[in-house]
Amino acid sequence: MTSQQAPGSWTNWARNQTADPLRRAAPRDTDELAQTVRRAADDGLHVRAVGAGHSFTGAAVTDGLLLSLDHLQTVEDVTRTETGARVTVGAGIRLHRLNEVLASAGLAMRNLGDIDRQSIAGAISTGTHGTGASLGGLATQVRGVRVVGADGSVTEATPEQDPDLFEASRLGLGSTGVLAAVTLDVVPAFHLRAQEEPWPLDRVLEELSTASGGRGGGSDAEGLENAHDHFEFYWFPHTRRALTKRNDRLGPDDEASASLRTARGERPGAVTRARAWVDEELLSNGAFEVINRLATAVPRATPRINALSARALAPRTYVAPSHEVFVSPRRVRFREMEYAVPRAELVNVLEEIDAWVRASGENVPFPVEVRFAAADDVWLSTAHGRESAYVAVHQYLRLPHERYFEGVEKIVAGVGGRPHWGKLHTLGAEDLAERYPRFEDFRRVRAQADPGGVFANPYTDQVFGPR
Ligand SMILES: Cc1cc2nc3c(=O)[nH]c(=O)nc-3n(C[C@H](O)[C@H](O)[C@H](O)COP(=O)(O)OP(=O)(O)OC[C@H]3O[C@@H](n4cnc5c(N)ncnc54)[C@H](O)[C@@H]3O)c2cc1C
Repeated sequence: MTSQQAPGSWTNWARNQTADPLRRAAPRDTDELAQTVRRAADDGLHVRAVGAGHSFTGAAVTDGLLLSLDHLQTVEDVTRTETGARVTVGAGIRLHRLNEVLASAGLAMRNLGDIDRQSIAGAISTGTHGTGASLGGLATQVRGVRVVGADGSVTEATPEQDPDLFEASRLGLGSTGVLAAVTLDVVPAFHLRAQEEPWPLDRVLEELSTASGGRGGGSDAEGLENAHDHFEFYWFPHTRRALTKRNDRLGPDDEASASLRTARGERPGAVTRARAWVDEELLSNGAFEVINRLATAVPRATPRINALSARALAPRTYVAPSHEVFVSPRRVRFREMEYAVPRAELVNVLEEIDAWVRASGENVPFPVEVRFAAADDVWLSTAHGRESAYVAVHQYLRLPHERYFEGVEKIVAGVGGRPHWGKLHTLGAEDLAERYPRFEDFRRVRAQADPGGVFANPYTDQVFGPR
């Protein structure tokens, strides 16, 4: 059976990136993947893999061979460890499927982002993250990668075996080769108590720790972002209102009763269906689409619309398995830019964005999302070596985003902000080299792994320099 697919145009989720590859293929296993890559390289084609196409940048775009790893979704191995398990999965597995498989084995990812549509390879390759002041992004949970090189070689890289290739491949935009499998450290399944509550923005900023630029004098340990396992907030531009989300892991006693009730089909402390619908639809989906269309038709009404939206949100508390709390559907399409900034700069950055929005006359119906991560040691992680806060700005797909994003990008540039590798930004290799202490190490490994530039595309040329 052939896995070649008819060539044709490819478009990403946000509909701002397209590709017209000469070839497309969806190999059925690692051997076929290796042969397909080698053949394309011998024919002088560029090669890129695509996951779910959820990057806003041209990360997956190619003019040569575009690979789908949709057939590589198997769970190859689950080895129990003292802290949970080590799980090896096909690189194309989608996060929602991975979460199901893990849950059925009594396991879970330690942390996740907002959605679960991505492939594991795509998610780690761009540094996808969730929130948690003491936690890292998905790439920090990776313990091994199987990399297919341009010559069709297959290398198992781990922190012990081929450590440089491991580092450059667990977060490297697929620039060292195509990932065929990923090994993850996962934890025993757990429940989260989710508390969502609208707060005045000033209260949020006051209760952040001083290490996050908080003004209320809360000690570093006491600050809001440290007091909860997963804290984030959405600030509604043109207003001083925010929706806070405080998610906390249940203790062993609560966990036992939550598991029992879930097993019986009960939802402990579950939010009512109607309330959940109102909040989810208002912030992310059906009603939010209407709100955005209204703001597009009558831009000057945006501040009033945002004020009404922020007021319409009501507090809710519920308990659910972790992956159900972390992720939610996102049906309204948008464009996004997200920068990691040093945590101490967070409050100043937000105040500057607020001032810019007010002075510029720009209308922004989408909330600004703020999240947290611990410092980590992944070479190209946006949180490499520093405690970070993420500031994500979005614009509805039918509205121009350029001026707003440019305004915000100037603000975060002043504090050494690092852009999410999968979200819009304008930085090039020279700017990024200054922001990543291990950038040259990454470029050295990339040059060794792909001397002919088979895995390059215009976006990797922009951010890493041309091969
Ligand atoms: C609605 C929405 C919500 C989002 N929420 C979050 C969030 O909460 N947190 C966050 O950090 N990000 C978030 N993102 C960004 C998203 O997680 C990343 O862009 C991620 O890369 C998308 O995964 P994907 O499978 O779609 O990868 P793609 O976009 O398809 O690919 C991303 C990169 O990975 C490479 N790649 C894919 N597969 C392989 C492979 N097998 N081997 C080598 N390289 C490969 C591609 O070539 C490309 O360079 C969101 C995006 C959207 C659209």
